[in-house]
Amino acid sequence: MTYRAPVADIAFTLKHSAGLARALEEGLYGDLTEADVDAVLEEAGKFASTVIAPLNTVGDKHGTPLKDGKVTMPPGWKEAYTAWAQGGWNGLAASADWGGQGLPHALNAACIEMWNSASMAFGIGPVLTMGAIEALDRHGADALKAKYLEKLTTGEWMGTMQLTEPQAGSDVGALRARAERNADGSYRITGSKIFITYGEHDLTDNIIHFVLARLPDAPPGTKGISLFLVPKFFVNDDGSIGARNDARCHSVEHKLGIHGSPTCTMVYGDNGGATGWLVGEENRGLNCMFTMMNNARLAVGLQGVAIAERATQQAMAYANDRRQGRVGGNGAIINHPDVRRMLLTMRALTAAARAICYATGAAIDRSHLAKDDAARKAADQRASLLTPIAKAFSTDIGTEVASLGVQVHGGMGFIEETGAAQHYRDARIAQIYEGTNGIQSIDLVTRKITMMGGAVMKDYLGELRRTVASVKQTNDPAFGATGARLSDAVDSLDRATAWLLGKLDKSPDTALAGATPYLRLFASAAGGCALAEDALAASRLNGGADGGGRVALARFFAENIAVQAGGLETTVTDGADSVSPIALPAA
Ligand SMILES: Cc1cc2nc3c(=O)[nH]c(=O)nc-3n(C[C@H](O)[C@H](O)[C@H](O)COP(=O)(O)OP(=O)(O)OC[C@H]3O[C@@H](n4cnc5c(N)ncnc54)[C@H](O)[C@@H]3O)c2cc1C
Repeated sequence: MTYRAPVADIAFTLKHSAGLARALEEGLYGDLTEADVDAVLEEAGKFASTVIAPLNTVGDKHGTPLKDGKVTMPPGWKEAYTAWAQGGWNGLAASADWGGQGLPHALNAACIEMWNSASMAFGIGPVLTMGAIEALDRHGADALKAKYLEKLTTGEWMGTMQLTEPQAGSDVGALRARAERNADGSYRITGSKIFITYGEHDLTDNIIHFVLARLPDAPPGTKGISLFLVPKFFVNDDGSIGARNDARCHSVEHKLGIHGSPTCTMVYGDNGGATGWLVGEENRGLNCMFTMMNNARLAVGLQGVAIAERATQQAMAYANDRRQGRVGGNGAIINHPDVRRMLLTMRALTAAARAICYATGAAIDRSHLAKDDAARKAADQRASLLTPIAKAFSTDIGTEVASLGVQVHGGMGFIEETGAAQHYRDARIAQIYEGTNGIQSIDLVTRKITMMGGAVMKDYLGELRRTVASVKQTNDPAFGATGARLSDAVDSLDRATAWLLGKLDKSPDTALAGATPYLRLFASAAGGCALAEDALAASRLNGGADGGGRVALARFFAENIAVQAGGLETTVTDGADSVSPIALPAA
């Protein structure tokens, strides 16, 4: 089954729980209207469903073979990419100064979801280019911007992001690639990088690599890393493409999923060194990379939403079709309560992750566009707080939902022919790249809930409580126990947060042992409240009736998923001591 973009659901969540409608009313986006937003979503949905989605299986089967240093992308991909870039989709949220459309990040987030539902392997390439655009725009020298930014923005060239080396994965500070100063202000880059997404391909005439390397006199660790722009082909002053740089793809990985995305080992310096140009300041490269990474982390979270949506659509179609056992209705398996539970879990988790990701995109917009400094700073902190949740929760549920999708198909789910198995294989990487989900939970506990002495988190908890109060005030029986269950979940989050904040200084290992369950607890409360916000809006717009089944979905989440918050709280606060080395004898 192919993909149908759920444009109405996407638009609803964007406008309501993510707050786009309110932002439009406030004039945050100038003269942009809801009708404009709807039109963009409609067009993106059409492109994703009709042009990209049919290439998903082709990419999985063909892969990205490497011969004589050149990677051949799957049939039809170059044409689709070119049409996509010419449609202006790459620069949707990028600055108009460089050929972008300057539209909201929240709207771009919705579009990123659709590209990735259509094909995760296709969608991940542009995600890295978008990150590169932001890093260059924010940190690059004017001359570098003038040469590269427009072509990256229009998608005529693609970008890569290169941190990883064999000994430097999560521990970026251990990287060894070297950069030496040339007399003309450029740098000579030598070394190699592994696992580089879209490091080599034939979609565009040039590829602009963003490479982290270390100067000879750099201090050790993350404080001694610099970021360099290293083009595959040099660019002449008139903008034409010149000679080949000393950078090449050595090999392409064979992997579990996203076969259409080339994952390359890159080698710099076969002939003395590749020429690169510094982005930002020497030894401050990680700062620039963080600009790319925050952007890319949200985008990878959206990959989780995307694959969950696609797996859910596929499972719904199969469950309506497949007849098995004595059940009511037309005898289709969707009438079995256990299958309904699986499908509702898939829908509820997907919708909650979507709402969290879009809210993160909306906070990024506010951090740039809000009227005063205080509002911009508060929005930036909100985006920072939510980014690890958006990345880790959404990609965790991406795999869980895709796994449920396989289960709904029974044996056919394990057979490649249905496509359910590909979704499951593709989903798995998003939990690993852009900082593993373990690293995200550590970021949440050590850097995010601690912001402003816990005040940022307190403010967020206050917002969740206001949603709970609004649900309770409706006295609408359709909400069932939603108010009470969400109230319990928010209480659990509040207590677990206070416990962690109290432990971080005295017993950091105890706090870190609970980081992953804490992130899930956070998402259970946040996701439940986001769905409740959408349900309240739907009910308001429909004169108290449940428009689009949103009240029912929020209730399902609150009564079946948010209730796990209590158990997760106990794991965080009481389970840490048993996470001891004694239980894990050395291999
Ligand atoms: C398909 C694919 C595409 C990729 N694309 C890119 C790319 O374009 N550019 C790029 O630079 N990299 C890329 N990567 C690399 C990716 O970002 C890393 O694989 C990832 O960051 C994890 O690093 P690692 O593989 O070395 O795992 P490790 O760092 O060895 O981690 C192994 C395990 O230990 C845990 N762990 C490690 N350190 C800690 C810690 N301090 N505290 C707690 N737990 C810890 C991790 O969470 C993980 O579970 C890609 C990888 C793949 C597989």
